[in-house]
Amino acid sequence: MRWHGVNEFALIETHFKRLAMENVTVAVDLGIGDDCALVSVPQGKQLAISTDTLVQGVHFPETTSAFDVGYKALAVNLSDLAAMGAEPAWFTLCLTLPDPATTWIADFCQGLSALIRDFPVRLIGGDTTRGPLTVSIQVMGLVDKNRSLLRGAARVGDDIWVSGYLGGAGVGLKLLEKNVIADTDDLHDAIQRLNRPRPRINLGRGLLGLASACIDVSDGLLADLGHILHQSQVGAMLDIESIPIAPALHNLEGLRAIGFEPVELEQARFFALSWGDDYELCFTAKANQRDDIQRLSELLKVPISRIGQVVAQPGLFDISAPDTPLEAAGFTHF
Ligand code: ADP
Ligand code: MG
Repeated sequence: MRWHGVNEFALIETHFKRLAMENVTVAVDLGIGDDCALVSVPQGKQLAISTDTLVQGVHFPETTSAFDVGYKALAVNLSDLAAMGAEPAWFTLCLTLPDPATTWIADFCQGLSALIRDFPVRLIGGDTTRGPLTVSIQVMGLVDKNRSLLRGAARVGDDIWVSGYLGGAGVGLKLLEKNVIADTDDLHDAIQRLNRPRPRINLGRGLLGLASACIDVSDGLLADLGHILHQSQVGAMLDIESIPIAPALHNLEGLRAIGFEPVELEQARFFALSWGDDYELCFTAKANQRDDIQRLSELLKVPISRIGQVVAQPGLFDISAPDTPLEAAGFTHF
């Protein structure tokens, strides 16, 4: 393929081969340059594979910088590995570009590099084509055989936990949509959460042997916890007041200033429950793991909140109004 005299091979040579040398701590038998890459899976390990695509205008606004597009595209993929308890090893990159603006590609690669520095994972191949801006990444990770954290493994009586804070990325998206300048720390943090989510890799790996089921929060806590409940054939009794919400959602005055009408903190909590893109981990664990989970939280310096319990009755309930399922209470309207 050719764009104004630049062909994809030149792009691969200048940008992607260099990127592939960023992290040489992960072994690869054969990297970029042949028809396939070759890797070896160490004995006793399973390969965990996931893929996610970001389309401009659908998964990120047109104003998102090339750096942030690169960062986020890899981060959301690594988040899926985190949710399985897998260690990142390799990734492939399929890039569709309207034109080969080399500064855009250089900035995009910088975004990928920044994340690779913190979470070593190695680029081993991909595809480069012309079309509307789309980034598709496939990650491959390693996990001890039959130890990964599955959605279907929650049991009645387990605690329900969530890491970090929820709702920040949602506020960030609204700020961008409304063209509001983030001029306070909490609003700035909200935009960071949207554009540069931190995959909870170390937490996911630390939860192996502690958690029963786990999922990363990409579509909103209620929706994603709902997947665990459905696949485990159980329900959840949540303590809505214990849901950890992003600093920006505590700032009710600030939210009003940007056009939201959260009358009370309770409404802000519902935002936090239903907005996506936070990439925290939601997991279940037996009550006798509480101390170990607390210790893991301190060791990794990641806040982890206990937000409820797995119950036999299917559905999602709030402990303060246990007779009405949360769906019926109207969270879907937020
Ligand atoms: P083929 O025609 O055999 O599919 P390509 O010409 O598409 O091969 O790619 C040549 C090599 O460059 C392959 O090893 C491929 O994995 C790699 N490659 C192509 N595009 C990218 C990309 N965006 N990122 C990383 N590697 C890439
Ligand atoms: Mg090809």
